Amino acid sequence: MSKERALIEIRLAGLSEGKHEFDFTCNAGDFDDAALVDAGFSKAISVKVIVDRTDSEMTVTLTTAATAELTCDLCLAPITLDLNGSYRIYYSYEQTGGQDEDRDEEYRVIDSNTLSIDLTEDARETLLLSVPMKVTCTDNPECHVYHQEDEAETDEDMTPPAGSLQDSLEKLKNKYR
Ligand SMILES: [Zn+2]
Repeated sequence: MSKERALIEIRLAGLSEGKHEFDFTCNAGDFDDAALVDAGFSKAISVKVIVDRTDSEMTVTLTTAATAELTCDLCLAPITLDLNGSYRIYYSYEQTGGQDEDRDEEYRVIDSNTLSIDLTEDARETLLLSVPMKVTCTDNPECHVYHQEDEAETDEDMTPPAGSLQDSLEKLKNKYR
């Protein structure tokens, strides 16, 4: 895959030691990944990159902010959610004898003469990880009824409130029995 220019790229050449902040704005389609489009990202995606550089290493912190159009797992009602993700990568300029397998965060070794780093893939993963596995409505009373119905099946003292949708359905069923 050849790209003229990386979507999220930090130019390291000439970047002094210390903290540097970079802001990128893009769209789900820019990442060339159907999964990201399918995930429901609907508006501009903002990616902030903070590079903290010392003479021997560099910390890169990615923060993503996006809006996604999702659907409730229970009632399929549309839900718009603001999604935030973050990811930290450590870069070391030299191989320091053996890999630090125990490190939680991503740890990479780069050449001190590296001109630029492409963070497109990291941003893409951070965005995908920011999408919740389960999505349910928080303020949809009808959805809540279905939710309670599920729990009531374990037969705890959860009689559905009078006049609820479930009640009416029961009455309807009896009527035509
Ligand atoms: Zn719902």
